[in-house]
Amino acid sequence: MKPAQFDYYCPKTVDEALTLLEESGFDGKIIAGGQSLVPIMNMRLSTPDCLIDINRLQDLDFIDYEEGLVKIGTLTRQNRVETSDLIRQHIGLLSEAVPFIGHVQTRNRGTIGGSLVHADPTAEIPLALMTMGGSVHIASTDEVRTVNAEDFFVTYLTTDVMPTELLTEIHIPIWEGRVGYSFQEISRRHGDFALVASACQLSVDDQNRISNARLVLGGVESVPLLVTEANELLQGERLTDSLLDKVASIVSKVIEPESDLHASADYRRHLAQSLSKRTLQEAYVKAGR
Ligand SMILES: Cc1cc2nc3c(=O)[nH]c(=O)nc-3n(C[C@H](O)[C@H](O)[C@H](O)COP(=O)(O)OP(=O)(O)OC[C@H]3O[C@@H](n4cnc5c(N)ncnc54)[C@H](O)[C@@H]3O)c2cc1C
Repeated sequence: MKPAQFDYYCPKTVDEALTLLEESGFDGKIIAGGQSLVPIMNMRLSTPDCLIDINRLQDLDFIDYEEGLVKIGTLTRQNRVETSDLIRQHIGLLSEAVPFIGHVQTRNRGTIGGSLVHADPTAEIPLALMTMGGSVHIASTDEVRTVNAEDFFVTYLTTDVMPTELLTEIHIPIWEGRVGYSFQEISRRHGDFALVASACQLSVDDQNRISNARLVLGGVESVPLLVTEANELLQGERLTDSLLDKVASIVSKVIEPESDLHASADYRRHLAQSLSKRTLQEAYVKAGR
């Protein structure tokens, strides 16, 4: 199918883009890589009156390192994130997550910000952002505000970004000390959206006791799920088989996956338990090295 008719604008500055967004109110939409928006428009699930193309806003295409922090511009292509040495060195979980997204062709066009704002509950970048405890900058003509990952994802395909706002930057803290991470997912074929995904980042002290852990699951709720109860249980502990079993049991209790034509709720529950164990184990081994 073809999309419904729309006006098209291609601003050259962020200010111009924000003014266009303000003027178009609820009728305008940002287009970045177009890898999610164009199929949705072709199916007429979305019929914006005007598209504001941000592809000329080169100020929003960057990867920067600052003391304790990596900053990524919203327009940075997923492929650039995947191949960045800076990201691999400081926030390796993101390098591990991105290759699971679609295919090379979609990653060449798809942006980091587009994936976050699209907010598919099985998407890899939202899961990684939540696991690393990142935040985003959101701009309007009035202000720039910062929102933590925990507050950013509202429900299925919905975030805290308002129709007149633009996501500009992603900030990811670099964890101190001995840190390990792991990203795992199960999908029907490589490149498909995950049935269930799990990501974990943790740090250990000199005695290999866990000092901080963030285990997050995708595909089990409408937003990425931070498994707070399990993360608290892990605090101060060495990872043993019995601790892993306890985490799996917590996971089974807190999630409410749905059945659809791809997988039953029971199968998703089973995957969530085993992937949680697998990511924790792998992250713990990496941290101890
Ligand atoms: C064949 C195929 C397979 C795929 N497989 C996966 C997969 O396995 N995992 C996965 O996560 N994704 C997958 N995707 C989606 C892909 O990752 C998209 O790139 C991503 O979801 C959206 O990024 P985009 O830059 O293309 O955004 P667009 O499609 O341009 O925009 C998506 C949404 O975000 C909004 N938006 C974009 N940028 C901004 C901004 N800066 N500020 C405010 N709003 C903004 C748009 O208005 C729109 O609502 C797949 C896509 C295809 C075509």
